[in-house]
Amino acid sequence: DTQYQDKAVAVIGFGVTGQACVKFMLARGANVTLFDSKYDDLLDKQIDDPLLVQVKLARFDESSEFEGFHLVLVSPGVNTQKNAIQRAIKLGLPLVSDIELFARHNTTPTIGITGSNGKSTVVDMLNTGLSKEGLKVAVGGNFGNSVLELLDEQYDVIVLELSSFQLELTFSLKLSVAAILNVSEDHIDRHGDLLSYARAKQGIYKHADVCIFNRDDVLTAIPPEALPESKSQGVDDSRSQRLFSFGKTAPLACSQAVELAIFENAEGLYINNAKILKYEAIAHLAKHNVLNLQVALLCAKAILKDDNAFKKCTMSLMTYRGLAHRFSLVRQTTLANGMQTQWINDSKATNPGAAIAAINCINENDNLVLLVGGDSKGTDLSELKSLISSRVNLLLSMGKDARRFAGCCANTEFVASMESAVNAAKQYVETCTTNSVVLLSPACASMDMFKNYQHRGEVFEQAVNAQEFS
Ligand code: ADP
Repeated sequence: DTQYQDKAVAVIGFGVTGQACVKFMLARGANVTLFDSKYDDLLDKQIDDPLLVQVKLARFDESSEFEGFHLVLVSPGVNTQKNAIQRAIKLGLPLVSDIELFARHNTTPTIGITGSNGKSTVVDMLNTGLSKEGLKVAVGGNFGNSVLELLDEQYDVIVLELSSFQLELTFSLKLSVAAILNVSEDHIDRHGDLLSYARAKQGIYKHADVCIFNRDDVLTAIPPEALPESKSQGVDDSRSQRLFSFGKTAPLACSQAVELAIFENAEGLYINNAKILKYEAIAHLAKHNVLNLQVALLCAKAILKDDNAFKKCTMSLMTYRGLAHRFSLVRQTTLANGMQTQWINDSKATNPGAAIAAINCINENDNLVLLVGGDSKGTDLSELKSLISSRVNLLLSMGKDARRFAGCCANTEFVASMESAVNAAKQYVETCTTNSVVLLSPACASMDMFKNYQHRGEVFEQAVNAQEFS
């Protein structure tokens, strides 16, 4: 592999992705320049760092120029709206993500999952289901390590979680299966508006063999002009793409372009006319996880060759219990009067869509105490606020954008810490004469008060577990 030998390659950002890019390029003999806004810090560390010592350092700021580089690798944390990046894009300079670099070298069948919410859950479901089928599965993307590390080993299938930031700078990723779960407001501070954000996600379908879309969410669908029949630029015209759909609603009988549709009714889960699971088998799942399961099953259907393998994979998912910090029950407490409270940690709800999904899972007869707030990233909160006004009994709001939640719930308290939120929740449920749910589903990013969403969830869980109930 000599294509990068002695080539000038720029890497922007020195996080998990940037480090993997630097390693990849150094191993192939490239001359690497590392751009970072923390230039001074890196300069201090350079002598002792085995990677940094091999690169040239440059400051990343509004005046950075990328002309003359053979390739510019951009980390997902780097805002592409910054002037320096916009200038480079307009000049047609070769700016790409690590996913694009992976795409140029990968030969393993790959499934790509994107969407505003549910990506990690679907990736985890697929990892569980396909591994049980005896396949050697690797997961990656927006998920721990950089995808570039996956190129070093042999796998049967790779499952990628892809963010809009990664897709924005990915152009030639060939996927066996591509799915968009949903598109709701998130990262508007970086994408500008919902449509640009949706367009970035739709890039996932470009060279995919099977495209899976949500029939209830028009922004996940391939624009009609891009369907295979109509020879447009949206898809790879040399092959015909297969379309699968999932969703809450029944599929339309007339949509012949859709080869497989998965749906749920009171009897169970069906793919076209074949029942694949009884209703009882999915009754325990949160509503949004039924949708995630639908997607995982469609992906498995596309990848697994025979019915038996698909059945086994389906069965293995029946015991799937979900990832931490996603609508997970922390504790169930009982008051002296016999009323129960469920304490639920949904710290990973970092946008309004996820919080709406969580609220919609709560039994309407229960008192609902909702903990929200943090950095709302410029998203539109109106739909969430109207749901709060009809559904939430006590709203506890914290963090940078706490005040954006003002005015939607008559019973609102602004709290300075997670501990005081949990104390206030406890005091409130002790006055209630019906069962309650205390739900941390903040609709915001966590970094204004916590290290990350895991840390926020852990602080919540500790505060909940520290409460004493008589
Ligand atoms: P992502 O990787 O896209 O952030 P996760 O699986 O980590 O997705 O879940 C993030 C949040 O979204 C959690 O609060 C979870 O409960 C919620 N969620 C999961 N699946 C869906 C879905 N299909 N629709 C709406 N919200 C969802």
